[in-house]
Amino acid sequence: MTASGRLRITEIFLSLQGESRSVGWPTVFVRLTGCPLRCGYCDTAYAFTGGAWMTLTQILEQVAGYGVRHVCVTGGEPLAQPDCLPLLTALCDAGYEVSLETSGALDLALVDPRVIKVMDLKTPASGESGRNRWENLQCLGPADQVKFVLCDRADYEWARDSLQAHDLAARAEILFSPVHGRLSPRELAEWILADRLPVRFQIQLHKWLWDDARGR
Ligand code: SF4
Repeated sequence: MTASGRLRITEIFLSLQGESRSVGWPTVFVRLTGCPLRCGYCDTAYAFTGGAWMTLTQILEQVAGYGVRHVCVTGGEPLAQPDCLPLLTALCDAGYEVSLETSGALDLALVDPRVIKVMDLKTPASGESGRNRWENLQCLGPADQVKFVLCDRADYEWARDSLQAHDLAARAEILFSPVHGRLSPRELAEWILADRLPVRFQIQLHKWLWDDARGR
């Protein structure tokens, strides 16, 4: 893959950050088109194809028009496009607080260190746990977050075991989130408390506020 100075963009929109440590902040989302994974619970399949080509300058202009401090680069899988890396750096240079939502399947080593990385570890029920790039754990720091999206009790136990096996809580903040409509938030909360796990429980705020409407 080579950088071309352009990115294929599904949408750029203003919303409240629905997850991660920045939850609740007004945030501009830049959703890049394309993803090499196919998680069973994916709620952004509309970003797999389509979109429109935009230059870095066009993206920066559109982001600036919203007038907020937080920018989240998401997908799809944003790192599947080589120009995601210069986009992240350009957003940091422009003074934004920048986060990157990534599946964890692609290399994080070249991501600008100013970017807050929110990296998934895909659980068995996602159907994509074979794609986890465990080497990425070396690229995470205290400002970064590892997110487990959980479908059922087996996923929870897998995540709990992974926490221990990789000493994850010492590397980054750990987020446990139930798949909306598949795992009861209360049940997950009770499992976490029973096991005294050093993780942050969260629900996907935008799903409760806007029932997952596109562009919110
Ligand atoms: S990595 Fe994200 S965008 Fe890609 S299929 Fe999985 S949930 Fe969907």
